[in-house]
Amino acid sequence: LTRLYGPLTALANVQVDIMTALVSFERVFEVLDLEPMVRDAPHARPLEARPAATSASGGGSQLAVEFDDVWFRYPSSEEISLASLESAAKETADGAGEQVLRGVSFRVEPGQMVALVGPSGAGKTTITHLVARLYDPTAGVVRVGERDVRDVTLDSLHDAVGVVTQDAHMFHDTIRENLLYARPGATDDELMRVLDAAQISALVASLPEGLDTIVGDRGYRLSGGEKQRFAIARLLLKAPPVVVLDEATAHLDSESEAAVQRALRTALSGRTSLVIAHRLSTIRDADMIVAIDEGRVVERGTHETLLAHGGLYAELYRTQFADQQHAPMR
Ligand code: ADP
Ligand code: MG
Repeated sequence: LTRLYGPLTALANVQVDIMTALVSFERVFEVLDLEPMVRDAPHARPLEARPAATSASGGGSQLAVEFDDVWFRYPSSEEISLASLESAAKETADGAGEQVLRGVSFRVEPGQMVALVGPSGAGKTTITHLVARLYDPTAGVVRVGERDVRDVTLDSLHDAVGVVTQDAHMFHDTIRENLLYARPGATDDELMRVLDAAQISALVASLPEGLDTIVGDRGYRLSGGEKQRFAIARLLLKAPPVVVLDEATAHLDSESEAAVQRALRTALSGRTSLVIAHRLSTIRDADMIVAIDEGRVVERGTHETLLAHGGLYAELYRTQFADQQHAPMR
């Protein structure tokens, strides 16, 4: 089982990663030659989220995100292969996996930002998987725009929810093609505008081939901070009302760090956002902090109230965040 488990876990991460770049879920699974674990319900209707304008802020179409007593365990490898042989994965009575989420409830109000914090393995990334409906909960309901995500079409859900993972991926292709995945048909003017907002236009301007520069392993090699800013540019192009962000933990030099920070502020402003936060500055910007431990919400509140409470958040603050007062994140 361990032998299968590792590769499958890795595969799930690749799926999320590719989904940050592609618009249609069907294409993701075509690329991976896999059947998705979830499908449109026969009665599924589109989630009504007018695509926001390319403006920096989310504009009028704001949606809430809600977890209502959500329980979840990852499907076993047998269930995964069954799903790809047959049709949709059905909830199985009692699988091998352990419950990774145990009754998680919280709500992100339209246009607000919630920061998820917690130790490694607490279930934070899993929560982001459920918002994008990579999997369905074993019990409880995930809602976007007050709709159970199982009742809306996957395409409309993925138009509404933009996911940015820790390791932003760029395909071996031109910068322009890498951006157009997010919005086919965008003009060069539009591309330059989002590159500007994402604090990466100077780099593109400095390249002899500009937008036609090929990036990736065999092309121009982007640094971690540059890839993150391109991911933010893609997010701005897609302009989804809901943003799910797994903040990068990788070390960035302080200049990139500041640029990524500014870019993120622009990208998140006015949008409903759920951020797995690793930076004190992000946490400070949040309307609410939700602390997760072993698949449960153990605390929620503002930085000040949670610090005064002296629980998990205060502990995380002392061990991870306090030293970022002046220095950039490790
Ligand atoms: P966090 O992001 O808070 O570090 P995760 O949501 O990544 O936590 O993981 C929560 C738990 O779920 C961990 O025990 C982890 O091993 C398990 N897990 C994460 N991804 C998978 C997967 N694709 N398949 C099986 N178990 C997983
Ligand atoms: Mg994680």
